[in-house]
Amino acid sequence: MMFDVAVIGSGPAGASCAASCARAGLRTLLLEREKFPREKVCGDCLNPACWPVLERLAVADRVHRLPHGKIERVEFIAIGGRAVGVDLPRAAEIAVKRSAFDELLQQRAMACGAEVQHATLEALTPRWTLTTSHGEIAARVVVAADGRNSTVARLLGLLPRFEKERVGLQAHVPLPEGFGRRVVLQLLPDGYSGQAPVGGGELNLCLVGRPAALPRLRAWAEAEFHLPRGQTWRTITPLRRPALSPAQHDLFLVGDAARVVEPFTGEGIFYALRSGELAAQAVIQQLQHGDTRAADWYRREHQQLYRGRLWVNRLARAAVLSPRFTSALLRSGFVPPALLEALTTKVVR
Ligand SMILES: Cc1cc2nc3c(=O)[nH]c(=O)nc-3n(C[C@H](O)[C@H](O)[C@H](O)COP(=O)(O)OP(=O)(O)OC[C@H]3O[C@@H](n4cnc5c(N)ncnc54)[C@H](O)[C@@H]3O)c2cc1C
Repeated sequence: MMFDVAVIGSGPAGASCAASCARAGLRTLLLEREKFPREKVCGDCLNPACWPVLERLAVADRVHRLPHGKIERVEFIAIGGRAVGVDLPRAAEIAVKRSAFDELLQQRAMACGAEVQHATLEALTPRWTLTTSHGEIAARVVVAADGRNSTVARLLGLLPRFEKERVGLQAHVPLPEGFGRRVVLQLLPDGYSGQAPVGGGELNLCLVGRPAALPRLRAWAEAEFHLPRGQTWRTITPLRRPALSPAQHDLFLVGDAARVVEPFTGEGIFYALRSGELAAQAVIQQLQHGDTRAADWYRREHQQLYRGRLWVNRLARAAVLSPRFTSALLRSGFVPPALLEALTTKVVR
C-alpha cells in the first residue's frame, strides 16, 4: 500500500504531525516500535507553551483530565542545600506521565484517520520504501519523529558521531510527604536531579550525570528518597548532540530527531509538538498543493522556533555542567531571585 506520509515514531512530535496530516486527508502511517502505553526517560513536565498546540489538536481538555501533578513553583537547590524558589507566572504547568500523555496523542492521531502500526523501522531507501519488522511499506514523504537516536537519520547517514557525554536516568517513586506543588531542580556534585509530582501519589525522579558518576547519583537518590537498593531506572543518552537539517525535499525531521535541547529547561515536549505541527503544514502544502518550496518553508519556521531561545538552553547547560560553580553563585546570592524569575518566565512562556 502507498501512503502519502509515513511518520516514524509516535512520541509527541510524531503523533502531532500524524494527527495534523491525517486530519487534512493525507493517507498517513504512524509507525511505533514500542507497545503503548509505555514510559520513557522524561521529567514529565508540560511547559505552558504546549497548550495552544494541544488545543489545536483538540486534546487539551483530555490532557487536563489525565492524572497529573500541578506545578506552581520552581525550586533551584544548590549543592549543600541552599534553595531559591521562583513562583511560576501562571499556574498552568502540569506534570503528566508519558505513558498516559503519549498514548492519548497516539489515539488522537488514530481518531484523525492515521493508521498506527506497531513495528520497528529497520531499513529505508529514498522515494521511499521502508522495511519494518512486519514487512515493506511505500510512502511519498517520510517524517523522522524517532527521537534523539533517530533510526531514520542513522540509516540515511545523517547522524554524526557524537560523544555520549552524559546519561539521563528516570524512575517514578513514591511522592515524599509534603512535597508540594513544585518542580525541584537540584544541583549535585556529580550532575543534577529533577523532581516533579505526577499525580497518583508518585514523583518523577530524574538524574543526569556522566557515565562514571551514575553509581554515586543512584546511591544519592536511594538515600534521599528512601528507595529500595537495586531500584530500577530507565536510561537515555546522549543529552546533547549536533542539530540536523530539519528538511530535504521529501524528508522531514521533527522533535528530538532534528534537535535535542537540555532537559533542565523542560521544553522538549513543546518543541516536539510544535515542530510536528509545522512539518505537517509543509507536507500538506507539498502533497496537496504541489508547493515545491514547502521544505524550505519548514526549515525557516524550524529555525525561527528555536531562534532567540537557544541562549537559555546554553545557559542552562553551562549551569548544569559546572554544578559546583553554579551552586557557589546560588549560595552567595550572586544570582538574584529577580534574574532567576526572569529566566524561568522566559522558559515557561
Ligand atoms: C532526563 C530528561 C528529562 C526531560 N524532561 C523533560 C520535561 O520535563 N519536559 C519536556 O518538555 N521535555 C523533557 N525532556 C525532553 C523530552 O523528553 C523530549 O524532548 C521529547 O520526548 C521529544 O519527543 P519526540 O517525539 O521528538 O521523541 P520521543 O519522545 O523520543 O519519541 C520517539 C518515538 O520514536 C520511537 N522509535 C524510535 N526508533 C524507532 C524505530 N526504529 N521504529 C519505530 N519507532 C521508533 C520510540 O519508541 C519513541 O516512541 C527530557 C529529556 C530528558 C533526557
